[in-house]
Parts: sequence; structure tokens; C-alpha cells
Amino acid sequence: MPTKTHMKSLALSMMLAFSAGSATAGVTDKDILDDHKTNDDVVTNGLGLQAQRFSTLDRINKETVDDMRVAWAFSLGGEKQKGQETQPMIKDGVMYITGSYSRVWAVDARTGEELWQYDARLPDGIMPCCDVINRGVALYDDLVIFGTLDAKLVALNKDTGKTVWKKTVESYKAGYSITAAPIVVDGKVITGVSGGEFGIVGAVRAYDAKTGNPVWERPTVEGHMGYVWKEGKKIEAGISGGAPGKTWPADLWKHGGAAPWLGGTYDPETNLLFFGTGNPAPWNSHLRPGDNYFSSSRLAINPDNGEIVWHFQTTPHDGWDYDGVNEVVSFNYRENGKTVRAAATADRNGFFYVLNRENGDFIRGFPFVDKITWATGLDEKTGRPIYVEDNRPGNPAASEDGKQGSTVVAAPAFLGGKNWMPMAYSQKTGLFYVPSNEWEMDIWNQPTSYKKGAAYLGAGFTIKSINEDYIGVLRAIDPKTGEVVWRHNNFAPLWGGVLATAGGLVFTGNPEGHLMAFDDKTGEVVWEFQTGSGIVGSPVTWEMDGEQYLTVISGWGGAVPLWGGEVAKRVKHLNQGGTVWTFKLPQKYAMN
Ligand code: CA
Ligand code: CA
Repeated sequence: MPTKTHMKSLALSMMLAFSAGSATAGVTDKDILDDHKTNDDVVTNGLGLQAQRFSTLDRINKETVDDMRVAWAFSLGGEKQKGQETQPMIKDGVMYITGSYSRVWAVDARTGEELWQYDARLPDGIMPCCDVINRGVALYDDLVIFGTLDAKLVALNKDTGKTVWKKTVESYKAGYSITAAPIVVDGKVITGVSGGEFGIVGAVRAYDAKTGNPVWERPTVEGHMGYVWKEGKKIEAGISGGAPGKTWPADLWKHGGAAPWLGGTYDPETNLLFFGTGNPAPWNSHLRPGDNYFSSSRLAINPDNGEIVWHFQTTPHDGWDYDGVNEVVSFNYRENGKTVRAAATADRNGFFYVLNRENGDFIRGFPFVDKITWATGLDEKTGRPIYVEDNRPGNPAASEDGKQGSTVVAAPAFLGGKNWMPMAYSQKTGLFYVPSNEWEMDIWNQPTSYKKGAAYLGAGFTIKSINEDYIGVLRAIDPKTGEVVWRHNNFAPLWGGVLATAGGLVFTGNPEGHLMAFDDKTGEVVWEFQTGSGIVGSPVTWEMDGEQYLTVISGWGGAVPLWGGEVAKRVKHLNQGGTVWTFKLPQKYAMN
């Protein structure tokens, strides 16, 4: 037992350590759980584990926003620009951001001065499907943790940027990569993987955030064994779905995709993680009759052991690459005198779903885009889509030479009614602000077979716009009725995240370079700023020294220029970039 004097000197030396320099206490589980309530930091991806992307700050509001000015800008520099999809994190006056090619920075949040930069040394053979992007870090204790394009998790010291631990999550040679921000729940850092276009096996994994030691692993394809680690020993924890490939033909589940590539959210009220899963592999659905669990689904996972508690499949037997990865946002609402613990998600397939987040039951669903061709609607009871069988791309085996099935024109295009870019939920208006796109595609199927590290699609496609004057649409949607309260059309496809605030504002950026503020009730654009390159990142806001700050990263790229077909041609004039922009109001608005 330490003596009293010993305790005293320990306390004194700790105090000295705190006052000596920039070293400050690290991020705790409580900081993470309370993130949505604390305005002086942003320590989760989503401004809270439930990912509502709502801030209670209101100093920047409909009246004052006109006075908002640039506080500082920071260039990521280098030749490696490409898409910048990061959401900044802020803790104790330091901002942590990621950039293209698996790079991380710590920047002084007051001045924009760089504190350190970390560049992952990537091998030549990485196989990111959709640009060399990264969506941000997780913070825990004194660690800054992120995933790399060669499918590693790397933990850096927050003060020095030096590597503390590094784990290979999966083999990049088999097509795995990581682009999502990890999530930290109860001391565990939890990540999915990308690679659904290469016939990988999707899985969600948890590691001890301080050491990187594995805690559990849960495959998202029916038939694969899950594991937990106890005292360093790897123990079988049951087959996902209970038995090998019940909803798959033959051996196709062995390379079934279902990549949980966008990471997850967490709801403390139900103690559930929510992860979405991507397409079943290959895209050619005629090769894999069945529902193909757990592809194109939302999964509720027990964070303690990786158990799948419930699943909700948005597109059973997906034949259009309607990945079901989009974020699940927990929110409560009152109906018939009762509080409903709901979860909302806007799917690539064009439907918006409201689920009971305790058990995954379907509450309601409705289209959130103007044109859906592949389904006429959702079953009122189950939420299962009512398919238009003629709108499934044809079976190559039924063609004369067996080489190509009939082409269909399907909407939405596979890049989705909504893609990865996160929506926001305003507790003030009760509305979701959903960044969406109106586009369609020619899509056809071809024969294919699995080969490690090679594309595994069995499909060809061309994305086309539906309207001459716009593709992107930001919609304000009432989750109780499906009513679109307002919409804002944008020429280029929207690809950036949304933020809602108690100041009555909704922020998002467009590929044309504008950071925009909308009136949350009317959709009127009340402020905009040209950032010099397209915005595909997610804005955040926080408070420092009594002032409200707002930050977004600018840097055009992502999947659209690579996969967008006719649409990519339409936006090819847009310039790349890589700049962090931070705004605030003049000093006169500061709190005294
Ligand atoms: Ca916070
Ligand atoms: Ca996919």
C-alpha cells in the first residue's frame, strides 16, 4: 500500500505534468458517452455515439451566421490530394483529422498550426474500390486510432504522433481495406472492413483500445465462425446465422462479401452496436439464389461479445449493389403517449427506414428519392421490398451465347439514393436532413468466378443522371410521416456529411466547393462560402474560449469520379484539393 507521502508526491508530479506543457488527460469512456452533451469537444464520429450529428450550440444561428468568417485554414499539402472524407475530432484545443492515402494530422484548433503528421507506409498492392479516402480517427485515452488502406488499425500517441500499437485486421492482398472511422465503446475499438467488390468475407472486430489485443470477431456472412478471446486464448463463439450458408447456394457464402465498410454507431440505451453490410458477392445475383444473409442488412451487435442480436435486411438477394451500410441513427419520439426507441437509416436502395432499435422490427418505410424502379414499395408488416422482377439485370445463362444478360435501366444507380455521407437529425425540428442523389444506371450481368484479390462482380454498368439541372438533393424529412418538408437541388451529386444545430441551421458542402448553411425549417440558403475544392467531408462544430467554431474539410474525390460513368464526365471540371477550413463569429459574439 502506498504511503501518504508517496500519494502526495504522486499527485504533485501529476499536477506538474499537467501544467508543464501540452500533455493533457486523454479521452475517457465517459467523454465518449457524453460527447453529444459536451460542446467543448468532438470525440465521436457523428457528434455522439448515436450519430445524430446535432449540436446544441446556438451562437452561430440564423441571425448571426452572416457574420461568420474564416478563423484559419490548413492545407494537407503534397501531391496526394484525392477525396477528403474525414470528420475532424477536437479535444483540449487540438484537432485530429485524416486525409487521403491513410494520413493523420494533429493541428492546433486555435491557430491551425500543425503539431504532427503521420503517413502510413502503404504497400503497392492496396485495393481500395472507391478512392484512397479515409473518414476519420477514433480517440481513446492518449491514443489516436485509425484504419488504413492496407487493412491495419494503427494507434498513435496523441501528443507525438508516434505509433503505440499496430494490428493487421485482414490481408490487403485479398482485397481488404479500411476507410471508416473506428468506434470506441467501453474501452474497445471496433471496426469493419471494406472489400465487397473483391469477394472478401465481411466481419466486425473489437480490440482492446489501449493494447490492440483482439476481443471478438463476428463475420457478417452467414456460415462463418465467430471468435472471442479470453485471457489471450481464441475461442469459437458460434457460426454467424447458426449454420453454413443456409440462404446461399453451394459454396458461394465462402466469398460472400457483406462488408461492413462504413463502420458503426452505438446506442447506450439498448447497449447495441449498429453496423450495416454491403452487397453480397458477386453482384450477378443469378449466381446466388436466396436472401444471402447478412448482406445488404443492418445488424445490431452486442458490444461485449460480438453476438448478432437482430438483423434487418433492406435488400434481400441484392442484384444492384445496394450496399446496406448506411449509418443507423438512434432517436426517440413520442407517439400515442409512449416513447418509441427508434432507429432511422436511409438506404442506397432509395427507401428510408424507421426501425424499432430494441428488436429490429420494421415500424415504417418510404421512398426518399423521386425515382425507384426495382421495387414498387415495402411490405407494410415486414419492410421487405416488393420487387419488380423485370428490373433485375438479366441472367447471362439465359442469353444466346451465355456471356451477357439483358440490360435494365435501374434507379437509384448503385452509388445509391444516399451513399456513405451521413445525414443529421435535429432534436429541435424532429427532422432528418438527408443528402441524396437522383440518378439511374444501365446494368447488366456477366459470368464470373472468385479469384483471390481480383474484382468479383459479374456485372457491368453506366451511371446516368435523371435530370438535366441537378443530381444532388438535400431533403428535410419527417421520420413519422415520410413528408419531405423541404428540398434543395444541387447540380453535382452530394457526397458530404450534414450537421444540424440548435442555432436553427443545417450545414453541408457540395462538390462545387460551397459550404452552405440552410434554414432548418425552410431550406433557404442563409450563408455560403467557396472552399476552393469539392466538399465530401463532414462538418463539425464546437466551443472554445467562449466562442463557437465550425470546421469542414474540402477536397473533391471519392467514388463519383471513379465509378460515376456519364455523371463523372459531367463533374470532371471540378478541382481536387485538401484544405481544412475553420470558421467562427467575430469576437463581439463571444460569451463573457
Ligand atoms: Ca462533445
Ligand atoms: Ca458494394
